[in-house]
Amino acid sequence: MSDIWNPWHGCHKLSPGCANCYVYRRDESIGKDASVVTKTGDFDLPLKKNRQGQYKLTADDGVIYTCMTSDFFLEDADEWRQDCWDMIRERSDLRFHIITKRIDRFEQCAPPDWGDGWDHVTICSTCENQDRADYRLPIFLNLPIKHREIICEPMLGEIDMEKYLATGLIGHVTCGGESGSKARPCDFRWIQEVRRQCIRNAVPFYFKQTGAVFIKDGRTYHIERSMQMPQAKKSGYSYIPGTDSADGIVYRLPERNELFAGLRKSGFRSGFHLSAKDKEYVAEKGIETIRSHARDFVGKRLSAENPENDGKQTPMKGHPVFIAQHATACCCRGCIEKWHHIPAGKVLNAAEQEYLVGVLMDWIETECTGA
Ligand code: SF4
Ligand SMILES: [Zn+2]
Repeated sequence: MSDIWNPWHGCHKLSPGCANCYVYRRDESIGKDASVVTKTGDFDLPLKKNRQGQYKLTADDGVIYTCMTSDFFLEDADEWRQDCWDMIRERSDLRFHIITKRIDRFEQCAPPDWGDGWDHVTICSTCENQDRADYRLPIFLNLPIKHREIICEPMLGEIDMEKYLATGLIGHVTCGGESGSKARPCDFRWIQEVRRQCIRNAVPFYFKQTGAVFIKDGRTYHIERSMQMPQAKKSGYSYIPGTDSADGIVYRLPERNELFAGLRKSGFRSGFHLSAKDKEYVAEKGIETIRSHARDFVGKRLSAENPENDGKQTPMKGHPVFIAQHATACCCRGCIEKWHHIPAGKVLNAAEQEYLVGVLMDWIETECTGA
């Protein structure tokens, strides 16, 4: 288990994510003013020892969440912070995780000997929406930090962070909804979208909690506090590159008729047709040869956990199967997840590959027979 060190307590609300801050909520419930920032009795916890002379602050996994009832880079703590850095430096046997909404104060708050970062310190920049992501992440990426994580919690909207993930400098992303009686809704689509961005960039992704008001497939669910983390866990949506973690996601393939009805309704999908030349090619090669080509394309371009060039791997012309892939949303893993429900970030097994080949061949045969 990880442990917590809160050197000071109290904070000031700064951005939309702070609106229902749990420090404020908890303090209010006991008649305390969370905007008064004070040092805690645990200020020097990392150096405290027990009677046997051993450090009191330990953690099985070595991780110490630092400053969880405030913000480590809060102005009010400017005079106290250097002492904390000194303690952190001394306890290089631990791994300190510092979560902040004030990454723009990092530079002026870093210790003089920070250099290009300390190995045992992870800095987590939170961003609750696109606006805060676009403000904080460029600053974050330009700082000398050894271990960077992004936390979108409470997640308040869709966030496109792909260009930040593509730098290769982000080690982990966490998403989650908001808790409490005033919780704002969190839409599962936002979670899925960030997850796909993480998969494409091989960044570990953690779906921490649903929050109290969770929207899935357009329906709103009110989820009890005690179930918000278990529900997220049950969804299997966390992702660790190089594992089969996405196999934990329960999904159902669409009914073939419903799928084709949906594709006909999509202006984009229904615009694809085989040309006379494509049809000639199919007739000349024979349907079983075309099926073997389809198997080959699905196997080589779509089946990996994170296919090369995903989203751009299927040409717009050059083979009837390519056309069929666009027409039936078998073109990339994002489209396959959206239309066929097979989660991205997993290796496609034989049955899944055969299912996609079947869809492609159905479409091609219908095109060729004009049925
Ligand atoms: S920065 Fe964090 S601790 Fe401070 S008010 Fe905002 S949510 Fe609360
Ligand atoms: Zn696609």
